[in-house]
Amino acid sequence: METTDLLPVKNCALCGTEFRAGRKDKKYCSDACKSEAGNIRDREKREAGKQQTEAQQPSLPAFIETIQQILIKNRELLDTCLDGLDIRRMEKRDLEGRGFNFKYITSQAPTLEDRGYCFCYELGYKEVENDRIVIVRREREVIC
Ligand SMILES: [Zn+2]
Repeated sequence: METTDLLPVKNCALCGTEFRAGRKDKKYCSDACKSEAGNIRDREKREAGKQQTEAQQPSLPAFIETIQQILIKNRELLDTCLDGLDIRRMEKRDLEGRGFNFKYITSQAPTLEDRGYCFCYELGYKEVENDRIVIVRREREVIC
């Protein structure tokens, strides 16, 4: 009887081929299977690491965040101009000079009584005669 017959028969963890394990902890039939299994493990580790990195990235693209910042700044400027009042008239170029960006608003004349107003959240402005504007404050943003 050959001594190898005494070794336990195992199935290769990768290809499933039966082999006699020279050592108890031997899992693969050959060096080729052992190294291939190592490659698969490394690849899975890399994939897992990549997915984690993707999950950590901010969910919104940068341009959306930039527009959000413009809207928030616009709202702050209207609030500063109102200075605690609910309605105020002023020169349009004064608001412009403070850095108001007329391109970005959140809603436009959402209700009849708001006709002509452009809102940044609950604060809005309307252009009137002589290059002036009227700034108004609503209790809250009207979503309709
Ligand atoms: Zn194998």
